[in-house]
Amino acid sequence: MKSLVMERKMELSLRDFPEISKAEETLGPRDVRIKLHTVGICGSDVHYYTHGKVGPFEVTEPMILGHEAAGTVIEVGSAVSHLAIGDRVCMEPGIPDPTSKAARLGMYNIDPAVRFWATPPVHGVLRPTCVHPADFTFKLPDSVSMAEGAMVEPLAVGVHAATKARVKPGDVAVVLGAGPIGLVTALSALAAGCARVFVTDLADKKLEIAASLSPAITPVHATKQDLTATVMAATENWGADIVFEATGAPKAAAGVFQPLAPGGCVVFIGGQADPIAYDAGAAMVREARVENIFRYAHVFPRCVGMLASGAIDVKPLITRKFDFNDSVRAFEIAASAPVADVKMQIELPQ
Ligand SMILES: [Zn+2]
Repeated sequence: MKSLVMERKMELSLRDFPEISKAEETLGPRDVRIKLHTVGICGSDVHYYTHGKVGPFEVTEPMILGHEAAGTVIEVGSAVSHLAIGDRVCMEPGIPDPTSKAARLGMYNIDPAVRFWATPPVHGVLRPTCVHPADFTFKLPDSVSMAEGAMVEPLAVGVHAATKARVKPGDVAVVLGAGPIGLVTALSALAAGCARVFVTDLADKKLEIAASLSPAITPVHATKQDLTATVMAATENWGADIVFEATGAPKAAAGVFQPLAPGGCVVFIGGQADPIAYDAGAAMVREARVENIFRYAHVFPRCVGMLASGAIDVKPLITRKFDFNDSVRAFEIAASAPVADVKMQIELPQ
């Protein structure tokens, strides 16, 4: 069976990929071998395809894309006791060195040495099987589908953002951006206790999806409506306790403090290709706390737990599915940023 290979910028092919190294395919005692079932298309996958790089990571040799994945365990290393053949699982795509300083400090996600799927020189998982550390492989209960399992990776970003924000029950939050990350952040903020979440975007269809997720979500059109006025009117002119920036757009970042309450918190989630400016004076008079997040650290079990119990439902975010044979077309469509889509997923033949 073939793999989805990014040959170079703007060139994908579905082909055999003998280049994958023996080391990557060898099962160690603490590893499992997984047959991939569902892989979500992430903004970073699309950005590699359209730009050839993401931030400092440049694709210089053919690379397999994909890092949001669920599948079935087909082989278990000799020292693995918590997983068995046949288990349905999702995988955390970043593998840190457990002995590194960052790992010992409890922040392995910001260890510069993390090996992360589909980040050069590490291959992604739009391929038949992969070998992965069992410690970063999480069993899915029967109530969680493969499609939901492949949503755990983006959901983990939202859960990490809500954790960094230190949400308190009854908080009011704003989420800038109704893409996959904005919406999983809104769901995470509600699960963490927010009374109300305002979600902004430019696309009406995405706002419709946002509003459908919960009666506690209020959609706000970023250009047709005045976000700050809307939030102030709803909070007796106090403002939102938390603003999550999930657009990555410099213009959105420039205004993050406007709807923020005194003593509030801004969490920057959206990726920034270039340096951006924000209003430090507006932050100062509010004594705003500013947090930044990069991926997540050990939140997959929480995400699986919330999907299993129904505390979070990500199914409405999955707006399109493609057969693996159509994955080149899936990426072409994803690259056109269709306004009515949130998350697209690819299903591999079983
Ligand atoms: Zn992703």
